[in-house]
Amino acid sequence: EKEIIKKVSTAVGYGKSYGGTLPTGGSMSNFMSLIMARDKKEPSIKDKGMMNQKFVAYTSENSHYSLAKNSSFSGIGRKNIRYIMSNKKGEMDVLSFEKQLKKDINNGFVPFYLNATAGTTVLCAFDPIEKLSKICQRHNIWLHVDGAFGGAVIFSKKHRNLLKGISKTDSFCFNAHKTLGTPLSTSVLVVNNKEYLYNSFSNEATYLYQTHNEEYNLGQTSFECGRRNNALKLWAMWKAIGTKGLAKIIDHEFELADFARKYVTKNKDYKLYNFDNSLSICFNYKDFDAEDICLKMYEANKLMVGFGKFKKQTFIRLVTINAENTKSDISAFFSILEKFVADNKHKLKKQKHI
Ligand SMILES: *Cc1c(COP(=O)(O)O)cnc(C)c1O
Repeated sequence: EKEIIKKVSTAVGYGKSYGGTLPTGGSMSNFMSLIMARDKKEPSIKDKGMMNQKFVAYTSENSHYSLAKNSSFSGIGRKNIRYIMSNKKGEMDVLSFEKQLKKDINNGFVPFYLNATAGTTVLCAFDPIEKLSKICQRHNIWLHVDGAFGGAVIFSKKHRNLLKGISKTDSFCFNAHKTLGTPLSTSVLVVNNKEYLYNSFSNEATYLYQTHNEEYNLGQTSFECGRRNNALKLWAMWKAIGTKGLAKIIDHEFELADFARKYVTKNKDYKLYNFDNSLSICFNYKDFDAEDICLKMYEANKLMVGFGKFKKQTFIRLVTINAENTKSDISAFFSILEKFVADNKHKLKKQKHI
């Protein structure tokens, strides 16, 4: 675990004070970052609870739903999250964030946390971390990057520019069980300054922690008391295939996505909804209802693919995060879909036009 945290922190570009832990997943990583941000802003909350502090947290309208639950668990409150508008690519709009921030400060609120996403769940969009980090530093706001989906691009020379500015964040997480294909769950959370991890998560427990060497008391920086050795899965994989091997997985997944995206853009029967640099391909086929196609193909045991929504549009969402797949698997996906639609066109609902 210590080795994994060290290597990931180095890849991120955090300095000597780095730290981290392996939480149960992305939702928990996000939760822990929110707690650290809260305690950094107002240390007394740990003992006294929230005392009418007017704390507000920020995230994009496309961020993962765990932030809403986490805000409730942490005493911040679901209504104190500001969902910032995104541009048409699904990336957080920096100007809208700044505007909202100014408005909140003028109204006496205390901004303390921004949750940016590296690979939003539906479109796989990457928020502009570098620009956001400058604003956060200016206003003493904790910047966490939720890379549960796309954060593993950190290992790819070709794609890590999607995380530009990542070294200037306070915390970062990614799920190796998504894009890298380790077994569930392998989630890594790293922090720029481990002091905050200890500050929020260490507790005296004289019946445990008897070895006195803080460096090896990993229970002092984790949420759970007993937990599994989740780091081993990533450690073994990394040891076996090296950083180059991890990069190859990521690069291959992007190649599959490009292949699928090209197929969709070259064929007039398809309409594409998202852009380059994404591991999900969102599209509609002919004028059929995406939700209905997905459901009926699933019930007919033909194909399992999900649908997604963005700014009132619904579409089929093909996610290319299985590195075992080849281009011919992607081609097979489209032929099965096309044949299914041809065979069932009278039973399928038509798309609702907005
Ligand atoms: C999947 C996902 C999560 C949740 O991760 P779990 O490990 O399932 O808790 C959080 N954020 C994003 C962006 C995700 O895609």
